[in-house]
Amino acid sequence: MKGVFHMLTVAQNIEKLKENIAKAAEKAQQRPDHIVVVAVTKTVESSRIQEAWEAGITHFGENRVQEALTKEYPEGSCLHMIGHLQTNKVKKALQRFSVIQSLDRPSLLVEIEKRASAPVECLIQVNAGNEEQKHGFAPDSVVDFARRAAASPVVRLRGLMVVTPYLSDPEQLRPYFSKMRRIWESLRQELGEDRMAYLSMGMSGDYLIAIEEGANMVRLGTAIFGPRTT
Ligand SMILES: *Cc1c(COP(=O)(O)O)cnc(C)c1O
Repeated sequence: MKGVFHMLTVAQNIEKLKENIAKAAEKAQQRPDHIVVVAVTKTVESSRIQEAWEAGITHFGENRVQEALTKEYPEGSCLHMIGHLQTNKVKKALQRFSVIQSLDRPSLLVEIEKRASAPVECLIQVNAGNEEQKHGFAPDSVVDFARRAAASPVVRLRGLMVVTPYLSDPEQLRPYFSKMRRIWESLRQELGEDRMAYLSMGMSGDYLIAIEEGANMVRLGTAIFGPRTT
């Protein structure tokens, strides 16, 4: 078991995380309990998902429909789709997920409208660095699409999900986060707090900076479950 002895349990990680979040929230003049933690469970087995639930986590995130279908999530928890959703998997995804955070193109909105039998909570994915290899709307095209999504009778728009470039120094992400916060605030003014309830940004390497810059939802895998081995 060499190398394993120093690893913290899921519950210990979550405890530490809550302390860190409280400090960052204070800097942003936010209430810590207004920050939603989505535990990202890709490659994590059901028993460890249960551990996180027992430590107080109620939101879970997966990036693949197929993987989400093979695992068990605690009854009463809320499952978020955070990965690119192929059009031909929308029907299955809607049966499994409570929130689609990765509404990343107009055609996906159309497909959700076609397949859903009840309103679907969605966040619009924004590709903050305009990176070619990443999905999502460019920051300067998200406003128009948000107006359209907000008017949908099926999609229940709930906010933005931001993906940022990978930078070894997370401090350098501040300008991306603050820009997205401004766009989110202005959409919130226009569309209302219900339609723009969440600004989902920040992952394990940068969530404290994201919260300082205004995120109220963070997506954390490694910080909760440790490094992914597969
Ligand atoms: C994997 C993933 C995360 C979590 O990544 P960590 O660095 O392990 O916290 C967050 N968001 C998305 C979209 C992901 O795919």
